[in-house]
Amino acid sequence: MEFPVCVFDLKTGVLCSKCEQKIREGELTPTDLEIMRFFLELEKKFPHISSLKYVRSLAADGYLFVFFERGFSSLPADVQTSLRNELGLRTGLRVKLMDISRDLNTFLQSLVAPARLLAINKVWLPDQTTEVKAVVDDERSVGAPPNVLSAIVQKVLNISVSFEFQRRTRLPPGRFGR
Ligand SMILES: [Zn+2]
Repeated sequence: MEFPVCVFDLKTGVLCSKCEQKIREGELTPTDLEIMRFFLELEKKFPHISSLKYVRSLAADGYLFVFFERGFSSLPADVQTSLRNELGLRTGLRVKLMDISRDLNTFLQSLVAPARLLAINKVWLPDQTTEVKAVVDDERSVGAPPNVLSAIVQKVLNISVSFEFQRRTRLPPGRFGR
């Protein structure tokens, strides 16, 4: 796997000045180092992942999002699932791995998969700023609550996005009786 720090540094646990700087400037965190080290181990078990390029990981509210520059979505489904499980066991967090994209549409689609992104609407607020509303088909299959999704989009793309679901996880009380 390709990493944003030297593999030698990861193996020895001692960072060179160039990699150290990435941590100091907040481009990467100690969590990233831990995750990257774990991927080095996993590479022996899953040779498929050697073609991936690691970007960064972001934690929010008990969830961990791991981003790759490319290649994750083309891994066999069972490898994707195994990686998610391995990282989940290791970190104790609910894990989502995905390819990163600077394109909002593509990014949101990967973020909510296997649910489907149905529409992106730009909403004008009274103060003339805009907010993006993403409409997704099924909340249950997204795997993370909307406030966590919004926080991740904000951190990665610096865009404020709210989520609306066609099918909600929790129905309004009493809607279908009991
Ligand atoms: Zn280095």
